[in-house]
Amino acid sequence: MLMTGTEYIESLRKLNTRVYMFGEKIENWVDHPMIKPSINCLAVTYDLAQDPEYADLMTAKSSITGEKINRFAHLHQSSEDLKKKVKMQRLCGQKTASCFQRCVGMDAFNAVFSTTFEIDEKYGTHYHENFVKYLKYIQENDLVVDGAMTDPKGDRALAPHQQKDPDLFLRIKEVREDGIIVRGAKCHQTGSINSHEHLIMPTIAMKEEDKAYAVSFAVESDAEGVYMIYGRQSCDTRKMEENADVDLGNKQFGGQEALVVFDDVFVPNERVFLCGEYDFAGMMVERFAGYHRQSYGGCKVGVGDVIIGAAALAADYNGAAKASHVKDKIIEMTHLNETLYCCGIACSTEGYATKAGNYQIDLLLANVCKQNVTRYPYEIVRLAEDIAGGLMVTMPSEKDFKSDTVVGKEGETIGDICNKYFAAAPTCSTEDRMRILRLLENICLGSSAVGYRTESLHGAGSPQAQRIMIARQGNISEKKELAKAIAGIK
Ligand code: SF4
Ligand code: FE
Repeated sequence: MLMTGTEYIESLRKLNTRVYMFGEKIENWVDHPMIKPSINCLAVTYDLAQDPEYADLMTAKSSITGEKINRFAHLHQSSEDLKKKVKMQRLCGQKTASCFQRCVGMDAFNAVFSTTFEIDEKYGTHYHENFVKYLKYIQENDLVVDGAMTDPKGDRALAPHQQKDPDLFLRIKEVREDGIIVRGAKCHQTGSINSHEHLIMPTIAMKEEDKAYAVSFAVESDAEGVYMIYGRQSCDTRKMEENADVDLGNKQFGGQEALVVFDDVFVPNERVFLCGEYDFAGMMVERFAGYHRQSYGGCKVGVGDVIIGAAALAADYNGAAKASHVKDKIIEMTHLNETLYCCGIACSTEGYATKAGNYQIDLLLANVCKQNVTRYPYEIVRLAEDIAGGLMVTMPSEKDFKSDTVVGKEGETIGDICNKYFAAAPTCSTEDRMRILRLLENICLGSSAVGYRTESLHGAGSPQAQRIMIARQGNISEKKELAKAIAGIK
């Protein structure tokens, strides 16, 4: 059963998820002005799936049940599916100009599905069966799952078992007959508060000494012992201002990250997908990271489309659209954005079937994709800020523009003065000009920067993580042979 966006929001109210912000427990987090935009954003992934226009991208036929499901819960069955995933993400980015948060779960489903198959094959365990049952439940109920990977990691020079505080990587504290007790935390978890479930994976490849840290499992977001501390964003308290609108830039949508704590949480055996088989931690990490690095060739491109549109509008509103350097900057932004899309499509086209049957992206190309995402959005933002002008960060508030406090000698209000001095091309109102500059501020520097600029750098792994994979996948010895053959070296 596919839920609507409204049904999704209502379903969150039934959860007893423990959320903390500014040092206090938030009881009604579903309606909290700082959290609400991220919930609206996720609701878009439900509403678009209801729209016949987008059915081909937003929905798929379940490989488990044969039923129609949201593509965010799908196991990719072909390269075509992988490409549709990227296109779906571009679409959602265009509609929200933000991180819509549902991809981490989708990427985790596909990584855990294929990895558990191979663990069972080697060890005779039943993780794959557990996972298929779990995913069937998720698909049938159209739930959101936070795919959680990043541990706090403590001292980066030390392995998990060497940390002074053993909880700095999430670990198995106790193995019981009916399940396991886990302890630790996952950092900057995208969409964790508004997910129904959490699917946990290890964060790095592990050796035998780190066996207790090689764990994958699923829990409900409101399971006993789970709680979340909201990660604040730049300009976030603007959302708490009375009648906030223009100053928000993007009133309706936003991303969300939180610290998710597991305070001795019990996980029943049927929800465990890896428990001590440390030699498979690396495979799970690599596959999840690969999928998520592909994802950025979709979502960031969709947000990029909005930035390019906003920059072009800012040029129109400033009266600068005809300047040749402005036109050239828009071309450059488009070129960079479409290059990212090319990478997302390329690693999908070169996808291949795993032993379990679902499709995995080409790892080298997905890492190249994400490496470019750590750079081009910065250049796109630089060009957008160049075109927009400094006003996007110096403009008075919406309240000033609407104020009727008299300040001028001829009875002009603060609003009159702001509107007089910030008027530009006659084709637009001063308010529309403000709106577009505030949107750029929001994406480039404000709340949505978490989903565009800085997240382009660190999300799905920081730049160095991709360079390690590129080194591993680059096949330099084969390239040396090519050079030797041409040069006549025996
Ligand atoms: Fe999806 Fe992009 Fe957000 Fe990751 S950053 S969850 S890929 S929208
Ligand atoms: Fe992300």
